[in-house]
Amino acid sequence: MADRILLSAPHMSGNEQRYINEAFETNWIAPLGPNVNAFEEELASYVGMKGAAALSSGTAAIHLALELIGVGKDDRVFCSSLTFIASANPIVYLGAEPVFIDSEPDTWNMSPNALKRAFKDAEQEGRLPKAVIIVNLYGQSAKMDELLEICEQYDVTVVEDAAESLGSEYKGKKSGTFGKYGVYSFNGNKIITTSGGGMLVSDDLEALERARFLATQARDQAKHYQHSVTGYNYRLSNILAGVGRAQLEVLDDRVKEKREIFNRYVEGLGDIEGLEFMPELEGTFSNRWLSVITLDPEKNSVSPYELIDALEAENIEARPVWKPLHMQPVFEGNKFFVHSENDTVSERLFITGVCLPSGSAMKEDEQALVISVIRKKLMGAT
Ligand SMILES: *Cc1c(COP(=O)(O)O)cnc(C)c1O
Repeated sequence: MADRILLSAPHMSGNEQRYINEAFETNWIAPLGPNVNAFEEELASYVGMKGAAALSSGTAAIHLALELIGVGKDDRVFCSSLTFIASANPIVYLGAEPVFIDSEPDTWNMSPNALKRAFKDAEQEGRLPKAVIIVNLYGQSAKMDELLEICEQYDVTVVEDAAESLGSEYKGKKSGTFGKYGVYSFNGNKIITTSGGGMLVSDDLEALERARFLATQARDQAKHYQHSVTGYNYRLSNILAGVGRAQLEVLDDRVKEKREIFNRYVEGLGDIEGLEFMPELEGTFSNRWLSVITLDPEKNSVSPYELIDALEAENIEARPVWKPLHMQPVFEGNKFFVHSENDTVSERLFITGVCLPSGSAMKEDEQALVISVIRKKLMGAT
């Protein structure tokens, strides 16, 4: 039986063990140590930000970013709707109210039109948001120029959720460096992984120092244990930071491999009626974390779920596109602003989208199998 082909399996470089051994030999088995410091410096320098704070997850990084901005009870935070729930959960942790913003078709990310409407509505109600969380989906940067201009106009701070877009670029600048805060994730399925982990980046070094303080139970400078505010246990382990350092060394290779995978899907599937690929906006460079397609129900009678089942039958993992957060039961009743009256883009992408296996360690013959199963399913049925 062939091995299961996964959506995006971890892909080690081979150097991880060296950094782990170093941590063991020096007995730095703790959520601090030389690997943590070095990983922060190396990542900040890779993306071109002044500093970085290594944390236990991307979710923790979003949580701390919002806390540093001062988001609190009954505040509002705007957030992309088409994303993983981790983008919005920290808003709820802080007792604030998420307001969801639709996607636009060119990048699948936050629609400037919808964002403008959300701001107008909030202005009328006299309740402007404290922050805007802009997500870069599947490696594709959002329309940062347009979105930042709107946020600046209202003087509202931006957090860039770049959990899926490490290594991507927007107009030659690394994804995750456009807001006051940028967030990366090193969860097991991300483009590089530490099994679990995250990073908060910023040019505000004082804010990052505060983030490290909050991430270590907010312990005051005193010999005894003293705490004046509530903190968290959110730092990254020195062992996992070692894994991260080795992974960061091969990030550019991973981006290249992911882009090659995407190109092979285009070659193998590009002629199928009604099948479209996730776009790459001009002036942006996507890490193609996942290769994503949409199936036009008017041109192809096979639904995304039928395609996912057909792949599953061959032991191949595929997934629907994220279910938009405004459609989630847990966010029932939260405000949502559409891209245009006759096109709710995030819902359309959810209904028509399929994420294909995109692991950088996937072999060419494995991908050829994926392509042939898709061709058989879609061409046999039209
Ligand atoms: C993975 C992910 C996160 C959360 O990262 P964790 O490290 O799993 O907490 C946040 N936002 C998006 C868009 C993600 O894909």
